[in-house]
Amino acid sequence: MDPFPSLPSLGPSAPRFLGLDVGGTKIAAGVVDADGHIVEQMPSVPCPAADQEAMLKAAVLLIQALRSRHPDVAGVGVGVAGLVDWPEGRIRTAPNSAFRDAPLRRLLRDATGLPTVVDNDANTACWAEYRLGHSASYMAFVTVGTGVGGGLVLDDRLFRGSSGVGTEIGHMIVDPHGTERCGCGTVGCLEPLASGPALARYAALAEAGRPTGGPGARTAGRRRVTGEDVTAAAQAGDPAARAQLARVGHWLGIGIATLVNLFDVELIVLGGGVAGAGEPLLTPVRESFEEYVTARAHRTLPDLRLTRCGPEAGWVGAALLARDGFSAQPREVVRTSVT
Ligand SMILES: [Zn+2]
Repeated sequence: MDPFPSLPSLGPSAPRFLGLDVGGTKIAAGVVDADGHIVEQMPSVPCPAADQEAMLKAAVLLIQALRSRHPDVAGVGVGVAGLVDWPEGRIRTAPNSAFRDAPLRRLLRDATGLPTVVDNDANTACWAEYRLGHSASYMAFVTVGTGVGGGLVLDDRLFRGSSGVGTEIGHMIVDPHGTERCGCGTVGCLEPLASGPALARYAALAEAGRPTGGPGARTAGRRRVTGEDVTAAAQAGDPAARAQLARVGHWLGIGIATLVNLFDVELIVLGGGVAGAGEPLLTPVRESFEEYVTARAHRTLPDLRLTRCGPEAGWVGAALLARDGFSAQPREVVRTSVT
């Protein structure tokens, strides 16, 4: 299988596409050509998460600034952290921003006059991976950072469920009798057990139980241990940090086993800050996954890889979704119906 599926050509005068990644505190944006190559990447701009109007204005200003330098931009794609109706591009709710029942696609299209698509940011990052990184017709992309999220590609299509709010991988129930309550209000979700904050919590608990040492010892007394501290310590070979990453990997492996049991994906790609730990995370994920996947002896186990895309995957994937609508790619155009 070719790991770099080439994009269908749009011809010699192919236009460019603009992507935005709207997070809780900042917006990343840039322009790609028809092959998905980055033409320009803007420095991220802060946006006031509590003010929907200000966030919208910041997004429009970014689009106008990029469009002034790339007048051949033919469409805009936006990835947003939150529950997004597809293809309407209406943000039902967003955990870290002011967007509530916001018809962002229509608002941006009206403000810029450009065809626009709006999707969940994990979906757009998944699409970037599928298009430009590790790729398979059936694959799952799992991001492990401040939260746990992801996307699914099934039969070479981004799977969104009936309305667009599916594949909330971080909210798979893996431990309903546990003690950690998720930000969504439920006890048992994968996210509070396998995210960066979970890693920091495991480290803090271990630190509290010993007189000295541990991955947070160098910073103890000055600031709280972070997931990044633990990841860095694990990469340096710290056995305690590796044990804490293994706890995260254990829960991730359970979640991934469920994904494989349900969807028979042939590839799992891990992204996000915690995945940057590399093999100290991949090994326990693989061990846990192989323990919990069903009929292990009678199936071909999927590849487990680290993402090939960087932190720009969210906006690049969004731009590629806009590009796919423009190129009338048979399956996606039905769903994107760019107007
Ligand atoms: Zn949850």
